Amino acid sequence: MLGILVFAMLATLVWLAGRYEASQVQSRLERDTADAVSDIRVALTRNLQSLQALNAGEPGDLAWEVEATELLRNRRELVRIEWRDANLRVRTHAQSPYRPVAWDLRLRDGSQSDAGIACANARRLSSPAYSSSYFQPYGDGLGSEMMELCLPLTSGGRTTGFLVATYSLQDMLLNLVAPSLTRNQEASFTEADGTRLAVLGAARRGSRMFMAQQLLDLSGTTLVLRMDAWHSAPSLFPNVLTALVTAMSIALVTVMVVLVRDNRRRLSAERDLADALAFRKAMEDSLVTGLRARDLEGRITYVNPAFCAMVGFSAQELLGQSVTAPYWPPERVEEYRQRQAIRFAGTVPPREGFESEFMRKDGTRFPVLIIEAPLINALGQHTGWMSAFLDISEQRRVEEISRASQERLQATARLATVGEMASLLSHELNQPLAAISSYATGSINLLEASAAAGPEDAPAASAGQLKDVRMAMQHIARQAERAGKVIKSVHDFVRRRDQAREAVQAQQLLDAILPLVSLQARKLGVRVHTSVEAHLPPVLCDRTMVEQVLLNLARNAMQAMDDPSLPRRVLDLRVRRAASNQHSGWVEFAVTDVGTGIAADVAEKLFTPFFTTRTEGMGLGLSLCRTVIEQHGGYLGFAPHEPRGTVFTFTLPAATP
Ligand code: ADP
Repeated sequence: MLGILVFAMLATLVWLAGRYEASQVQSRLERDTADAVSDIRVALTRNLQSLQALNAGEPGDLAWEVEATELLRNRRELVRIEWRDANLRVRTHAQSPYRPVAWDLRLRDGSQSDAGIACANARRLSSPAYSSSYFQPYGDGLGSEMMELCLPLTSGGRTTGFLVATYSLQDMLLNLVAPSLTRNQEASFTEADGTRLAVLGAARRGSRMFMAQQLLDLSGTTLVLRMDAWHSAPSLFPNVLTALVTAMSIALVTVMVVLVRDNRRRLSAERDLADALAFRKAMEDSLVTGLRARDLEGRITYVNPAFCAMVGFSAQELLGQSVTAPYWPPERVEEYRQRQAIRFAGTVPPREGFESEFMRKDGTRFPVLIIEAPLINALGQHTGWMSAFLDISEQRRVEEISRASQERLQATARLATVGEMASLLSHELNQPLAAISSYATGSINLLEASAAAGPEDAPAASAGQLKDVRMAMQHIARQAERAGKVIKSVHDFVRRRDQAREAVQAQQLLDAILPLVSLQARKLGVRVHTSVEAHLPPVLCDRTMVEQVLLNLARNAMQAMDDPSLPRRVLDLRVRRAASNQHSGWVEFAVTDVGTGIAADVAEKLFTPFFTTRTEGMGLGLSLCRTVIEQHGGYLGFAPHEPRGTVFTFTLPAATP
C-alpha cells in the first residue's frame, strides 16, 4: 500500500511539474506575442508620423521623392509611398530599393482598388486608414501579402490629397518582430480563419507545440499575430528539483523495501532462535539428568530443574555458590574441595565419570555419578566446567536386589545339590546305622547271655563279656560319630552364612568339600586325588561360595566320568600359584577329569544359565560358578585335558598380609 501510495504521489508530482513547465512556456509565449503586437503598433505609429512629416511645408515633387526614398531606405517594412491628389491620381511616388515589385498601376488607380478603399475610409474618418491585405506578385514568380495605409492630406479643412504607403506583411514580421523572436518560435500574420498571410521563424522541431494569438487592431482592418513555439524533447523530469525529488523518493522506496526485507529476515531469525531456545529449554527441563555449569572460579552459573529436584535446593539458592556447595555432605567437604582444586588446575576429568555422594536439603545422602567436561564457548575459549549428574541410588538398590536374589539363587542351587545328595546320604548313613544296630544287637545278646548263665560263673564270664560289650559300645560310638560327621558335612554346606571375604588356606577349602566329594566318588567308583603346592599364601574369598564352586566343578567332573568302562577314573584337585606374570599374587585351582570331554557346540553354551545335557540337571552350576569367581575378581575357564577329559581352572586373589 505504501509503495503504491509513494508511486502515485511520484507520478502526480512528475505530471504536475510537467504541467507547470508547460504553463510557464505558454505564458512566456503569450507575453512575447503581446510584446510583439505592441512593438508593431509602436512602429506603425512612428511610421505614420514620419509619413505625415513628408508633406509638411509644401515640398516640391523632387524634394518629396528624395525624402520618401530616404524614408523607404530606413523603414524596410514599407515598400512604396505614393503622393496622390484629391482625386486619387498618383502625383509622384517613391519605391523601396530592397524589393523590386512589378506594380500593375492600372489596378492600383481605381477607386475599387485596395488603396482606393483605404482612402475612401480615410476621407470619411479624416484620419489614416488601412486596407485589408492582398496578394501582390513581385513579377519573378514570388509574391507577398501587402497592406495599404492611406493618409489624408488636409489644408484649411479641405482634403488636398493622400499619401498612400504600402506595407509588406512579410517585411513587417522581418523588421518589427524578428529581433525579439527566439530560435524555437515562429511568428505569423493570419486571417481570422487561421489562413497564414505571412510566416517567419524556425522550422518545426520538438514534439510539444504551444500557440498564442493576439489581435492587431488597425483602423480599417484587423490582423491576427500568431506565435507558435516548440518545446524540444518531451521531458519527463522538467527540472532538476523534480528529478531530485524523484530520485530521492526512489531511494526512499528502495531503502524501505530493503528495510522491510531485512526486518522480515530478522523476524524469522528471531523466531527460529526462539524456537531453538524453547526446544533447548524444554529439553533441559525434561531431562532426568541433573546439569550444572560452573565458571573458572567455581561459581555455579547454571543448574537445570532436574538438578534442583535431585538436591532439593532451588536454583536461587545454588546460583553463585562457589566455596562450598550446600549439597556437599559436611564430613566430605575437604575431600570435595581438593577434587575441585584439581579440576580447576586444569586436569581433564575421566570421560566415563566418577561416583560421589551428595546430600539433599533434608540431610539424606545419595550416590551420584558425575560426568564432567570443559565448557568451551563459541570463540573456543575455556570458560568453565559442565557437569551432568545421575542419581544412582535406584541403580544401587537394584544392584542390591539382584545381589540378594543371586544369593538366594545360589542357596537354592545349594539345596538342589543337597536334594541330589539325599540318596547318596541315605546310602552313606545306612552303613554306620546298620553297624550301630548290629553292634547294639550283639551287645544286647551278650548282656542277655550273661544274665542267663547265673551268678556262679559270673566273675570269669562277666570279665570276658564286659570286654566285648565295651568294644561294641566303642564301635557304636565311632559309627555314630561317623554318621554325625556325614550329616554335619551336609549341614555345614547348606547353612547359609553372610557373605564375607576372609583369608582361607586352600587346603581348608578342599577339606571342607572332600567329605561330600568322597560320598559321590565312592558311589561312582572314582578315585579322588588332591595336591596343594607348598607354602601357598591363603586366598581372600567368600568361603561358602568358593566351596560351592569347587564342589560343583568336582561333581561335574565326576559325572563326566560316570562310565564304568573308562579306565583309571581319577578326579584331580590341584592348587598352585598362578603361572602368568600378570596374575602373580593369585592362586589357581584346577579340577581335572578324564571323562568324555566337552564338544564344541556344548562349549559355546556352557555358561548359559539353564543349559544342561543331563536329564536331572538344572544347568545353573557353571553360570553361578563364573559369577562367583568374577565377583572375586578372578577368572574361570576350561580347556581339554590330554589324552581325555577336561580341566576347569579358576583363580582367586592371594591374601597379602
Ligand atoms: P548341570 O550340572 O546342572 O547340568 P552345569 O552348569 O554345572 O549344570 O553344567 C552344564 C553342562 O556342562 C553339563 O550338563 C555338562 O554337559 C557340561 N559339563 C560341565 N562340566 C563338564 C565336564 N567336566 N566334562 C564334560 N561336560 C561338562
